[in-house]
Amino acid sequence: MAEKITPRSEDYSKWYNEVVQRAELADYAPVRGCMVIRPYGYALWENIREGLDRRFKATGHVNAYFPLFIPMSFLQKEAEHVEGFSPELAVVTHGGGKELEEPLVVRPTSETVIGEMYAKWIRSYRDLPLLINQWANVVRWEKRPRLFLRTTEFLWQEGHTAHATREEAEEETIRMLDVYADFAETDAAIPVIKGQKSDTEKFAGAAASYTIEAMMGNGWALQSGTSHFLGQNFAKAFDITYLDENNTLQHCWTTSWGVSTRMEGAVIMTHGDDQGLILPPKLAPIQVVIVPIWRDDAQKSVVMEAVGRIEEMLSGVSLSVDDREEVSAGWKFNEWELKGVPLRLEIGPRDVQKEQVVLARRDILGREGKSFVPTAGLGERVKEMLDTVQQALFDRALAFRRENTVEASSYDEVREAVNGKFVLARWCGDPEDEARLKEDASATSRCFPIDQDEDPGACALCGKPARRKAIFARAY
Ligand SMILES: [Zn+2]
Repeated sequence: MAEKITPRSEDYSKWYNEVVQRAELADYAPVRGCMVIRPYGYALWENIREGLDRRFKATGHVNAYFPLFIPMSFLQKEAEHVEGFSPELAVVTHGGGKELEEPLVVRPTSETVIGEMYAKWIRSYRDLPLLINQWANVVRWEKRPRLFLRTTEFLWQEGHTAHATREEAEEETIRMLDVYADFAETDAAIPVIKGQKSDTEKFAGAAASYTIEAMMGNGWALQSGTSHFLGQNFAKAFDITYLDENNTLQHCWTTSWGVSTRMEGAVIMTHGDDQGLILPPKLAPIQVVIVPIWRDDAQKSVVMEAVGRIEEMLSGVSLSVDDREEVSAGWKFNEWELKGVPLRLEIGPRDVQKEQVVLARRDILGREGKSFVPTAGLGERVKEMLDTVQQALFDRALAFRRENTVEASSYDEVREAVNGKFVLARWCGDPEDEARLKEDASATSRCFPIDQDEDPGACALCGKPARRKAIFARAY
């Protein structure tokens, strides 16, 4: 049997790295900070992409593709933007054997190049809103890389929209935040908190940034998607204007929003256990693994014939049949548990005789998660059970987050609780509070949850007046 994975309680970060590599999701690349997404990890990404892309199209967006190289001068047009991204830029100075007249940056995000094109394409109010998304890779130089969570190059989607009015752009920003939350909760079974970022944590160049924050299995937060209201900052920097109905020239209002391969990290750390991955059925590349069991050739032909019938009954379910002879059934069980396949279907000669199979749930290991299911009506039963697992994963993650969320009303309470918990505390938003907490407890504000009633009170961190509560946590 293969070596056991380091338990989460012993070393969470080691557990994470072992799961990513042993489940064959990703591997380290020759260039430090880069990662190779292996076929199993890429299949998971494809399912994430499909779930998001479907939602983008349903809300009126179309896909396009913009170039990887951006002239350095473009970034310099928006002061906050260049300041925020400068430390992370990869810059190309030579091309075709010659030094370039102007250095090019490898896109860290595409507001600038898309802004340049929008300025060209948008003429009148009839061209608005312009709702474009792109699926692409971006580069942000990472000093402390972690597979999926922080890599120098990563895959993502970036939506960029332009609107005639402030209200429409603000609506779009929240609409896409809702789309992300719906995807995270419905498809990835990850409960998220929708909220607004503090000034220190907001996107460089945005007027307001919104986030979905999720709690990982160690109580840390992972920012899992962001949606930015850019005001007219980029419209003014890039001269994105339109003629309104009265023939007056106006600046557009723009938004941008993104979800990246980080989402895989969120799935791994929200659901995984000491046996490895647990994938939500809606995103799992393999939803059911069939493990046929036999002792001799006569049994084998009986069992495999039954497997053929089962495969037909389970059309529409993503299946894999593990009929390898060189490894034992127990070894296979371990391997598929490590890979997080939501359901395992076992069938041996006696089951064939009794016209039944064994279904074993990945989220409930051992006897408790096993059931004997008649072959008649198996298709329906399997689909029901996949839905049950999907819901159970969400419920478990939500219960875990609730158990590990506390309220605090003083700086000391926040500082003490914030290691491994979400702390909800009234906060004035002063960056100095945040800097102090970062220094003392390596924690940051995650967001001001949208879903709260504002009322006057005193900041838990410094005592100044504060109308809203924020979530503080350690974060990836
Ligand atoms: Zn304060």
